[in-house]
Amino acid sequence: MISKLANSISPFYVMEVLERAQELQKQGTDIIHLEIGEPDHNTDDKICKEAIKSINAGDTKYTHSLGISDLREQICSYYKKKYGVSISAENIIVTNGSSPALFLAFCSVLNPGDEIILTDPHYACYPQIIKIAAGVPKFVKIYEKEEFQIDIKRLKKKISKKTRAILINSPSNPTGMLVNSDIMHQLSELGIPIISDEIYHGLVYEGREQSMLEYTKDAIVVSGFSKLYSMTGWRLGYLIVPDQYVRPIQKLQQNLFISANSFVQRAGIEALKMNDSQINKIVNKYKKRRDAMLTGLKSLGFEIKRVPDGAFYFFVNTKKISTDSYDLAFDILENAHVALTPGIDFGKGGQGYMRFSYANSVTNINEGISRLKKYL
Ligand code: PMP
Repeated sequence: MISKLANSISPFYVMEVLERAQELQKQGTDIIHLEIGEPDHNTDDKICKEAIKSINAGDTKYTHSLGISDLREQICSYYKKKYGVSISAENIIVTNGSSPALFLAFCSVLNPGDEIILTDPHYACYPQIIKIAAGVPKFVKIYEKEEFQIDIKRLKKKISKKTRAILINSPSNPTGMLVNSDIMHQLSELGIPIISDEIYHGLVYEGREQSMLEYTKDAIVVSGFSKLYSMTGWRLGYLIVPDQYVRPIQKLQQNLFISANSFVQRAGIEALKMNDSQINKIVNKYKKRRDAMLTGLKSLGFEIKRVPDGAFYFFVNTKKISTDSYDLAFDILENAHVALTPGIDFGKGGQGYMRFSYANSVTNINEGISRLKKYL
């Protein structure tokens, strides 16, 4: 018999769109992929070479459960340089991507039935990971007319005796918005642990991304290498946590994952050594794509109330075409051969929206827009 937990987990609808798109491709249909939240370019050569060098040097064993000290030190230097915050390597736990980091963070704050407050819409996997960690997700609605910002008054109404943390994600998947700094400040003053998913940091085109650690030392930061460094398949992430969490999370990590991949951690050090001009090149490329997508979406008649600050997504209100984003995504895929992510993937508040990813070339973005023009 399959457990109630396993049965209660929702599918990741974007994967169903992707799988159908791949089926169509096998039959010879050309598909424009604007659904995937994954950088389209290869990992930088230097990073790859470092991993190969490390494998050849026999660096293929388990590492310390908290991660290799060189990488943890490098992460500290990075935080000092980028955010001006001083953290100690002892507060860092290196993980196999930010997904396990989220799980470890949730496990460390939740007793069965305890609650974590998060926005609706939200990154699709959050409520599922909270449930796996025996917790209950509590949603606070965010709205396009409020630029998808968290309303602190509305959030306070969700706080209960069971609240153990507030989860934020800036810049956000799926909205692309940064959390405004006054809101970050107010969140830091609520006296509830903030779990801050900073996985899209570095990919910001308007304003500056701030780490929750700039506001409070008590934050639990989740981040990783998948997005900015185009290292999704490497599986490398980390947690930065206050002292009291280190040992409990270390024990969870030892039992669940033992350690992050050895040679991948070496490659991570190389990624963090990338200089400003290399990073600017990546950022400028995405900015051009974002602008091309913006022009295209406007030409289709969609109203974009605030241009997304970062990540690589537009979360577009498509209610005029259909209020059922799931049906619409499949209809567009079958008839226009453009793959999009249905907004319902990101919670009830995402129904009637469609997520357009611009982690694709300007040529493909323009082709996708022109196919959608014909479809509409
Ligand atoms: N958080 C957010 C908001 C994401 O979009 C993703 C990946 N789509 C993750 C976490 C997980 O990333 P990874 O496990 O590759 O680090």
